[in-house]
Amino acid sequence: MKCPYCETAINITWTTHFIYEHDECWDPYEIESGQEVRHGKCPECNKLIILLVSSNFIGTDRDEFGSLRERYIKEDSPYNEVFIFPKFSIKTVAPEVPEKYGRDYKEAAAILAISPKASAAMSRRLLQTILRENYGVKKGNLNKEIDEFLDSNKVSSFISESLHYLRFIGNFAAHPSKCKNTGEIVEVEASEAECSLGTLDALFDFAFVQPAILEAWKKKINDKLIELGKKPLSDS
Ligand SMILES: [Zn+2]
Repeated sequence: MKCPYCETAINITWTTHFIYEHDECWDPYEIESGQEVRHGKCPECNKLIILLVSSNFIGTDRDEFGSLRERYIKEDSPYNEVFIFPKFSIKTVAPEVPEKYGRDYKEAAAILAISPKASAAMSRRLLQTILRENYGVKKGNLNKEIDEFLDSNKVSSFISESLHYLRFIGNFAAHPSKCKNTGEIVEVEASEAECSLGTLDALFDFAFVQPAILEAWKKKINDKLIELGKKPLSDS
């Protein structure tokens, strides 16, 4: 898992508390759906993380006091984990990114665990705002706006392919679709909302961070040339 504070990939040794649903009558070898609360500290930043895990559990035998000695998550069980604390991922944004975009991005990240659909919809809206305000992309539908941006800008294959996926997820978040087989509304998953945020990360880098680094280099070199009495370099 990724630490919600420092975003490092980490392995935590959890302390676990099981929430019994049928404490008295649970046969240790019977499968029981239930929850456990896990807490531990990030080995990198040492901050507290608390998770609620829901799954199917199976026990071993009981000790002399009647408590289960061990319990495991039954293989192939449905599994869900949510952060209880911290409530939201603490995402950081590079200082070169304009504040209004950074604020919307952090909000989309903050609601990811509660509503992936709302998060993906916010990412979609932010993407459109950045393309319109910084690349003069004309207001249209998401597909057209992404095509217009890709046609007039040389971007990495990571960005162009991510945008290709984001247009699918973004449309999906804005216009609920039904599953062909079951007729049920298919929801945006957390991993898809995370992919939308990842695309914004790459776009922030392309649109704001890299140009700022380049400008700083140019200025440094040109200042030196001027100091030496030479003509500063012009853009190629
Ligand atoms: Zn951490």
